Amino acid sequence: MKTVTIDTKKRNQMIDITSIVETSVSDTGIKDGMCYVFVPHTTAAVTINENADEDVKVDILNTLSKLIPYRDDYRHMEGNSDAHVKATLTGSTAAVIVQEGKLVLGTWQSLFFCEFDGPRKRKIMIKVVGDK
Ligand code: ZN
Repeated sequence: MKTVTIDTKKRNQMIDITSIVETSVSDTGIKDGMCYVFVPHTTAAVTINENADEDVKVDILNTLSKLIPYRDDYRHMEGNSDAHVKATLTGSTAAVIVQEGKLVLGTWQSLFFCEFDGPRKRKIMIKVVGDK
């Protein structure tokens, strides 16, 4: 398993991590299997979505913020309940098929690290299983 550290820059941010994950896959030498991406945080997440139009990320983050406001009738004392709710809706894992040593993603798909309570130093754990 490989752990990658990234520095996020904003409170809410989606960062394309596809090339980071692809490098991890090729480092293993595994040609045929599965790649699991896990985010070990309660206010960040991972998702797969469009990489072509930058506005898709803006729309996703804005829509999440509209559905889950920063300030609301939350009980959690830390003051970041919106980030916890966004993280649980988005999810902490992604699984991608590996074929011929490459991630199987659609033409317009990328893997995104989703920051909901940044800026922070964050970890991404990547595990590739399969045959060489
Ligand atoms: Zn909290």
